[in-house]
Amino acid sequence: MTCFPTIHPNKCLRSRLNSFDCTDCRQACRSGAIEVEPSIAVDPEACTGCMLCAAACSAGAIEEEREDFCELLAGLKDLEHPVIGCKGCPDVRAHKTVECLGCLSDEYLIALEALVPHSVQLNATRCGGCRNGFVVEVIEKRLERLRRLGISGDGQGVLLKRSEDVLVYHEKEWSRRTFLFSIGQRTSRSRVKVIFPRDEDKSTARVNKFLPFQRKLLNAVLPQLPGEQYERLWAEHYYDIFLSDSCDSCCRCAAMCPTGALNRKRENGRKQLEFRSLLCSGCSLCSSFCPVDAIEVRKTGSKSPEQQPCSA
Ligand code: SF4
Repeated sequence: MTCFPTIHPNKCLRSRLNSFDCTDCRQACRSGAIEVEPSIAVDPEACTGCMLCAAACSAGAIEEEREDFCELLAGLKDLEHPVIGCKGCPDVRAHKTVECLGCLSDEYLIALEALVPHSVQLNATRCGGCRNGFVVEVIEKRLERLRRLGISGDGQGVLLKRSEDVLVYHEKEWSRRTFLFSIGQRTSRSRVKVIFPRDEDKSTARVNKFLPFQRKLLNAVLPQLPGEQYERLWAEHYYDIFLSDSCDSCCRCAAMCPTGALNRKRENGRKQLEFRSLLCSGCSLCSSFCPVDAIEVRKTGSKSPEQQPCSA
């Protein structure tokens, strides 16, 4: 049975700004199932459930069930040879399954790499016979990006397994920590709760502000990475804004920003913009909206959060 992505039309950036022409989800879709006019929608007849649209949407307008991913992380953490498979293959050899491997975006793969101690194997041995088999190539490219980031290395980290010969799967794995297995389970679950606390949205609780789950995931992973990986993730997946002289500090971009990364504040009686990289999804809505074309959004490059001039 095809599982459709969950659509939140009110989170689509096009619904915030009519002239914003983001089509990331439609470009990612291989079956022409996504419509963005007059508002985002999925054609259930055409959708094959590959979830590439969800992985492509940086605004969180098309999402996975977040509890599912937390559960998945918790369930894999204590295994020595953890395997993820696809729900579309009922008898696939895997400890945990997702709707389609295509849902494992860069952010999800980074989280699997950083938060699961042993190499996670993606069981793609059945993908060849599936109508969504094209996702295997997409995942290869995502893993290649991880390798370039230095987050995954040769034979280490998240591994794509296309053949049963190379898949290492033990239905019930009892590591030397078996004795503490149940305690470990509880610990891993509570850790996931720590990573994704229920009240995490408080920092962006202003009206219409919403931090996409994939961004929360990166923010949870970032402090857990060792120095060089931390720097690379920060440089490649976080953003900074640059204001030109034409900025007249009207601060209307702060109202437009969907995540709360931009804020209006008063200093010495003057309106000023405050920016927090950790909340910025890099959507560029502020830049598209700015009436005097004063905002440029760029990847942070090599700067760390402490060096951000406007970071809180
Ligand atoms: S600061 Fe700009 S680029 Fe970043 S999330 Fe807000 S609107 Fe998007």
